[in-house]
Parts: sequence; C-alpha cells; structure tokens
Amino acid sequence: PSVINQIAAGEVVERPASVVKELLENAIDAGADRIEIAVERGGKDLIRVVDNGKGIAPDDLPLAFRPHATSKLREADDLQRIATLGFRGEALAAIAEISKVCCESRTAEAETGFRLRIDGGRAGAVEPCSCPVGTIMEVRHLFFNTPVRRTFLKSDATEAGHVAEMVTRLALAHPSVHFTSRSSGKVVFDLPATTCLTDRIAALFGRELADQLIGVEHDVPGVGLRGFVSHPSHSRSSSKFQYLFLNGRYVRDRSLQHALAEAYRGLLMVGRYPVAFLNLEVPLDQVDVNVHPTKIEVRFREAHLIYSALYSAIKQAFLKTDL
Ligand code: ADP
Ligand code: MG
Repeated sequence: PSVINQIAAGEVVERPASVVKELLENAIDAGADRIEIAVERGGKDLIRVVDNGKGIAPDDLPLAFRPHATSKLREADDLQRIATLGFRGEALAAIAEISKVCCESRTAEAETGFRLRIDGGRAGAVEPCSCPVGTIMEVRHLFFNTPVRRTFLKSDATEAGHVAEMVTRLALAHPSVHFTSRSSGKVVFDLPATTCLTDRIAALFGRELADQLIGVEHDVPGVGLRGFVSHPSHSRSSSKFQYLFLNGRYVRDRSLQHALAEAYRGLLMVGRYPVAFLNLEVPLDQVDVNVHPTKIEVRFREAHLIYSALYSAIKQAFLKTDL
C-alpha cells in the first residue's frame, strides 16, 4: 500500500462518521429497508453496518474494493449517476486502504454468503461463509496504518456524536428505512420504517418538536420544496434543528440557511433559530453537488430562483397558520 493511496484515502475519510456515511449510502443504494449500525469507541475500533439489500456476488466482491470500480457508473449516464447516492466508486477502496475490513455478503440467488477481508489495502481470498441475504461491512481500527491521522480524532464520545449526526441525516432523508444504531452496545436510535416524515422526526427529536411543525409545499418552475418548519414562537436557541436536503441529500449551505433566516426576519428574537426539515428538488443540471469527496456544499446555477422559492414557500406556509 503506497503512501499516495493512503493520502488519497484520507481525502475521503476524515473520521469514523465519514465511513458511516459511505457505508449507509451503499446500503441504501443496494435497496435495503433495514440497516443496523454499530460502533465501538466512537467508530475508532469498530464500525459495523448490516443491511438487507441486494448483496454482492462473489465475483464482484474484490471489485467493490478496487478504486473507480463502481457498479453504478457502468450502466448509468451522468444524470442517473448523481441520482444514486454513490457515484465515485472510490469510497470502499479508500476505507479498505486505511483500516481492516471484513465484508460478508449474499445475494438472493446464492446458497451461501461470501466473505472477503482487506487489511490496509491487501485483499485476501474470497471464501464462503454463512450470512443472511444482504451485506455486513465491518471496518476495524480506522487509520491503524496512518497513525498521524488517528491522533487528529477527537474523544470517543465526540466521534460517537458525529456518527449519530450522520445517522440522523440519512434517517431523515430515508424514513422508509428501519435504522438501528448502537454505540458501545447501547442503543442510540431505533427508528422503525414509516411513510410519514413527521413520525421519523418525532422518533429522532421527540413528539413535542414534531407536533409543532408547519408543512411546507411549494412548486415553481425549476424548484420543488417539501418539508416542515417551525412556527416562530417555537424557535430554538441554536440552528442545530435545521436539516436541509437537496434532491434527497443532506446539504449545509450558507446561502440556503440565509434564505431561511430571511423568511423569519422580524419574527424571531435575536439568537433564536427556526426549526426546519426541508427537501429542495432541483433539476440535476441546475446544481453542482459534491465538488469534493467530503464536502456537502452545493452550487446553484440560478441561485436567486432557489432562494426566492425557499423564501416564498415559508411565507406561504405561515399564511396558512394563524400568523
Ligand atoms: P460507489 O458507491 O460510488 O459505487 P463504493 O466504493 O462505495 O462506490 O462501492 C463500490 C461498489 O460496491 C458499489 O458500486 C456496489 O456495487 C458495491 N457495494 C458496496 N456496498 C454495497 C452494499 N452494502 N450492498 C451491495 N453492494 C454494495
Ligand atoms: Mg458508495
């Protein structure tokens, strides 16, 4: 394993939560509706993701860990490529370069599962094993061969917090998936599948917060907006209950947050923030996402259209309440 590979891997993998993100996105791409996450020591010692998705055929197992060997590029054109969550085909290769991975997977057709271990980028042999249909990914000892990177990690509790935040974002984007998340054996989340976003919000943040939300639904040419915001009287003292999604992907975008704040201008006291769970649907050719492996920033071609749509969507939602 070359130093260059390890540096490249560090670009994708910043901390345990980055691994969790990639593994969860793969599980969702594989069509799983049941995903279990378990971490030990904030993910530093172990990250395990178990899914009931379509699994990986034995011949494809080694390929999945080779750089740029995404199965999602082969058949897809550019647009579909971005529509699935993964599109770089480098995540698993990067993760396997800087950790000890054990993958067990079984497709519906296969009579047994198959296991592959990769240790710091060195793949072993594919061997049969018994496992249910779906995939079990175990990532142990992240950054074991890049000790300097390991020293940049924060405390176990802080890293576990980042993992929980990552699970929260994906769980909000995919309420129809049942997520269970454990940290050092303790259940952090058990989120049953639901078709109702407010049920998922309630499971994550409590019924009280969920019951205070106002529905947002707004369509103008080029932008669709759906989700929930809080009444100004139910604002919070921090912006941590603001979850914005673009075409189903979590984004943290300054100008979108600014547009949100503008909609509440004059309605909130200083230091108060609205609660928001909003998904923007924007045509894929109008937006650049994921300009960098770990970044979640977006660039809109017609930014003013997006901001004014967000602004009027929220104003309209207020009109329907007794504001
Ligand atoms: P990408 O998701 O961008 O294609 P990854 O490196 O994340 O790249 O994954 C490589 C490939 O491994 C995927 O394209 C997919 O075919 C396969 N794969 C990874 N995780 C899973 C999973 N949980 N279930 C089924 N297939 C998977
Ligand atoms: Mg992926």
